[in-house]
Amino acid sequence: MKIPLLDLKSQYQTIEEEVNRVVEEVLESGHYILGPNVKTLEEEIADYCEVKYAIGVASGTDALRLSLLSLGVGEGDEVIVTPFTFIATAEVITQVGARPTFVDIEEKSFNLDPAKIEKALTHRTKAIIPVHLYGQAVDMGKIMDTAKKYGLKVIEDVAQAFGTEYHGWAAGRPKKLGSMGDVGCLSFFPTKNLGGYGDGGMVLTNDHEVARRIKMLRVHGLDSNCGHSLLGYNSRLDELQAAILRVKLRCVDKWTRTRRQNASLYDKLFSSSTVPVRIPWEAPYARHSYCAYTIRIPKRDRLRDYLKKKGIETKIYYPLPLHLQKVYRDLGCSDLDLPMAERASKEVLSLPIYPELREAQIELVVNEIKNFFS
Ligand SMILES: *Cc1c(COP(=O)(O)O)cnc(C)c1O
Repeated sequence: MKIPLLDLKSQYQTIEEEVNRVVEEVLESGHYILGPNVKTLEEEIADYCEVKYAIGVASGTDALRLSLLSLGVGEGDEVIVTPFTFIATAEVITQVGARPTFVDIEEKSFNLDPAKIEKALTHRTKAIIPVHLYGQAVDMGKIMDTAKKYGLKVIEDVAQAFGTEYHGWAAGRPKKLGSMGDVGCLSFFPTKNLGGYGDGGMVLTNDHEVARRIKMLRVHGLDSNCGHSLLGYNSRLDELQAAILRVKLRCVDKWTRTRRQNASLYDKLFSSSTVPVRIPWEAPYARHSYCAYTIRIPKRDRLRDYLKKKGIETKIYYPLPLHLQKVYRDLGCSDLDLPMAERASKEVLSLPIYPELREAQIELVVNEIKNFFS
C-alpha cells in the first residue's frame, strides 16, 4: 500500500461535481480576475475569521510582502521572525529593504519563543512576524503584550494554520488566527488547509487604512479617485481560484476535524508503543489544525529512507533553519546562536495527516515505524 504525504486528487473527487460546476460558471461568465467570486470569498473569509477586511492577493508570499509595505516597514527597519519557517516569511522582509532578526523557537511548539523577543529588540525594530507553524498557534497573548509595550506591528503568518482557534488571550470567545495581529496573512497554495488549485493568498485586517493600501498595492498602486498614488504590484486573486476556494471553505471545518481525529489516532498508537518518539504538543491556548503532523524522532534520516522503501511518503519541514541557508549566511546571519531551531531541523519528521487518510493507513505508518526501531 502506497501512502502519499498528501492526496489532493482524492480530495478533489469528494467535491468534484460542485467544483466543476463553479469552474464552468466562471468560464461562462467572462469575468476572470477580481470579480464577484473574489469579492464574495473576501466577505466569507472576513466573516469566518471575524475581521473587518479580507483582501485577496496572488499568493501567501505576496500577502506578507504587501502587509509589510502597507504598515510602512522598509529600509533600515528590523523585523523579529522565527528561523524555523518556510523561507517566504523572511524573504519578503529582506526584499522590502528591512532586516530579519531571527529569534529562537520554543522546544514544544516549534514556534517563536515570546520570552526571547525582548532581548532581540533594538531601536530599529518595527514589527514581529509570528508564524503559526504546522497549524499550531503561537502564544499570541504574549506576542501582543510585547508588541503593545514597545509599539511594534504584528503580522501573523497563518499560511499553515487556517481555521486554528485561539482561546488564551484576553479571555472572551475563541479567536481565529490572523485576527489578533495588525494583519493576518493566508496562503491558498494547494497543500495548505484551505488550498486552491493554483496560487492565491489573502490579507486580513481590522484597520481601514491598511486595507485601503493593500487594495491599491495589489493593482499597481491604483487609487480609484486619483490614478496611481503608490508604487504597487500585480498581485490579484483570480475568479477560478476564488470560486473553488468558496466551495472548499464550506468543507474546511469538517476536514480540520478529520485531521484532528487522525492526529489523535497517531497520538494513541505512538503513546502505547515503545517507539522513542515525541508526538506533537497541543498548546492549552489553542485548537491545533494539523496542517502537518510533525514528530521528533532519533535516526530521522534513516527512518525516512526506510519508510520511503515501504511506500510511505514523509517530509522534513525544515531541514535547515533560515539563518544557515546560503542566502542568509551571505547576509551575515550564520553566527547567530539558535540551538532550538537547529536541533528541531535535525529531529523533525512530518507524517501523512490529510483528511482522506484511512485508519488502516495510519496504523500501517505506525507499525512500520515500530518495525524500524525493533
Ligand atoms: C506556504 C507558506 C508561505 C507562502 O505562501 P505561498 O502562497 O506559497 O506564497 C508563507 N509562510 C509559510 C509559513 C508557509 O508555509
